[in-house]
Amino acid sequence: MTRKPLRACRALALATVLVLAAAPASAQSPGDIEAALKAAYSKYKDLKEGANADYIPALAKVDSNIYGIAVVTTDGKVYTVGDVTSEVSIQSISKVFTMARVMEEQGPQAIAENMGVDATGQVFNSIVAVEQYKGGEMNAMVNPGAITATSMIKGATAEEIWKTILGTYSDFAGRPLSVNQEVYKSEAETNQRNQAIAMLMYAYGHIKADPLRACDVYTRQCSVSVNAKDLAVMAATLANGGKNPVTGKQVMKAENVPEVLAVMATAGLYDDSGKWLFTTGLPAKSGVGGGILAVSPGKFGIAAIAPPLDKSGNSVKAQKAIADVSNALGGNPYAPKPK
Ligand code: GLN
Repeated sequence: MTRKPLRACRALALATVLVLAAAPASAQSPGDIEAALKAAYSKYKDLKEGANADYIPALAKVDSNIYGIAVVTTDGKVYTVGDVTSEVSIQSISKVFTMARVMEEQGPQAIAENMGVDATGQVFNSIVAVEQYKGGEMNAMVNPGAITATSMIKGATAEEIWKTILGTYSDFAGRPLSVNQEVYKSEAETNQRNQAIAMLMYAYGHIKADPLRACDVYTRQCSVSVNAKDLAVMAATLANGGKNPVTGKQVMKAENVPEVLAVMATAGLYDDSGKWLFTTGLPAKSGVGGGILAVSPGKFGIAAIAPPLDKSGNSVKAQKAIADVSNALGGNPYAPKPK
């Protein structure tokens, strides 16, 4: 081979590398994403399985027909279908972002050491799970670990702590979020079980601040109002190494994202996390308000809202819709292509 073709060859190889590097983070075209969203939307629109959560009275009154899906790519493009303006309370999805904030302030090890990073095999508000290992060997996606994480946020007063929490969520969502006061009031009147959990976590030395204050701030964080697009932007921020792809703000350190995603993968859908991972491979988090968000690392964030839940407390339609869309777009990080 003469020198010239070799140089041409190198130039071609370099050009290919450059083209690949410049390609959008998601390998799918906008048309593919829109088609996947539309297909999942219409496939599950009329599904009637599940029921709204009713142990928090205000959640039983939410319109069961709300149904929207959103995908936000790591290059900041937003795709939506269905009802993406109606808001529901974020509920347990908030646990991800409070935990992320604690990791930001104290490092991921603080979470691993204080409440653990293992699945409980129990429902999200299990007291047995606390008793089993004296409040350890669990995770920040179930209530005992989550209320403990809230108690670890730095701040001299409840208001200061709350400002940090709401500010963090708003940065992830890329817009100022606020509390649904009706949901907050309703849960605050009926959260005796969570108060008991907080007291136990205090008794076992995991919560070091006022446990009832931690429980109240946790109740407020669960009442933050979000739509499907907000949740998808929050997920996309995690997919994009902690940098909100819509606002461009680095919301958390990229180095802490793997630990956040690992805890979500382990316990984001509670006792059904294994089934979920088996179907999608995606770290995800659900809330009893009917929202679920999921992260395809480096590619996209995806979220869906539909209030009726299955027995584990996960939205029936949102699980199905997210799984279909992600699988259609090659979102599963455990699905390498053979070389
Ligand atoms: N606020 C709810 C509770 O603590 C959150 C539960 C959930 O979304 N799974 O019970």
